[in-house]
Amino acid sequence: MERGLSRFTKRMPQSGIREVFDAAQRYDDLADLSIGEPDFATPEPIASAVADAIGNGVSSYTETVGRADLRAALAEKLAAENGIDAAPESAVMVTPGAMGALFAAMQVLCDPGDEVLVPEPYWPNYHGHVASVGAEFVPVETDDEFVPTPESVAAAASDQTTALLLNSPANPTGAVVPPDRLRAIYDVAAERDLWVIADETYEDLVYDDAEHYSPASDDACFERTVTVHSFSKSYAMTGWRIGYASGPGPVVDAMRVLQEHTVSSVAEPAQVAAMAALENRDVVEDIHRAFADRRELILERLAAVDGIDAGTPRGAFYVFADVSDLAADSRTFVDALMAEAGVAAVPGAVFGESGEGHVRFSYATDASTIETAMDRLEGLLESA
Ligand code: PLP
Repeated sequence: MERGLSRFTKRMPQSGIREVFDAAQRYDDLADLSIGEPDFATPEPIASAVADAIGNGVSSYTETVGRADLRAALAEKLAAENGIDAAPESAVMVTPGAMGALFAAMQVLCDPGDEVLVPEPYWPNYHGHVASVGAEFVPVETDDEFVPTPESVAAAASDQTTALLLNSPANPTGAVVPPDRLRAIYDVAAERDLWVIADETYEDLVYDDAEHYSPASDDACFERTVTVHSFSKSYAMTGWRIGYASGPGPVVDAMRVLQEHTVSSVAEPAQVAAMAALENRDVVEDIHRAFADRRELILERLAAVDGIDAGTPRGAFYVFADVSDLAADSRTFVDALMAEAGVAAVPGAVFGESGEGHVRFSYATDASTIETAMDRLEGLLESA
């Protein structure tokens, strides 16, 4: 058969993080710091609420945008914690993870040939989202702490630019964009009449004096912003595949129609899990505390390694360490780390050109795996 796949499909890359995952399958004894997934099981009150619901026959299609009780609870949470005023009946939608919300937002906001601005280093899946609609991916420079500036956003914009994707706290860098900076960046988006997609998947995971700020808490900003949240990281619920989007009514309505034709609605047991999560919001504090301890541990261990600069990541559960004194090429460094020391991490180059010279270590795993990985890293560098 001669006929090939569609143009957009051929342009859709696989994430470089996946390459590390595939390579890791060849080893039995890896200290794995490559995965961006909490190692906890979903907290008990959430799991038991779902078990009860399934026992009671909760297993139906729901409204495409999600159950009304869940949307009401989400709107309350958005108002109380994010300062976002989103009407539950028209401006909030339950999605299959943040991933489903990001994909849908891109589909309804961008056309082929449009340019989408993405601060670099970036989460590689954004490439797939942009490519899926035939838009062009335009990286935006960030400062020494991996935070975009209003000037860098303005410099990257052109007449073809239609959207700006912001991710704070950020994967892979752990950067948290301060509120003032986000407001100044939003001003550039408003001047240029751009849509803003705010990926706040890691909103609960900020440390030290960092503050999470939702730009859509400003009413004018809300009108041009789709804000994306997730249950995956805050509640250790990656496998439930549930997140939510909030934004202007017409945009959410377009996303609803798209979702009607793709997933129909998010699995009802997952929606029950999300309700239980919101009713047990204190479980996030335990998860946060565990990550804060692990962050301290890995930063302390990396600070003792000559040639590595771990910086000060203030959010998410990643350290984006500068290893350029040890190896110019992050892939070579990571390959040696895996093959010779049994440690998995992700080469900075997969997060964009400016990620080269860095390695992403995830501290979503337990303390003893972090200790083992750091012992092995030190051993490898001592023997070099
Ligand atoms: N956004 C970022 C920045 C992520 O790192 C991830 C997952 O790693 C997601 C979105 C997707 O999250 P979800 O599991 O809610 O689809």
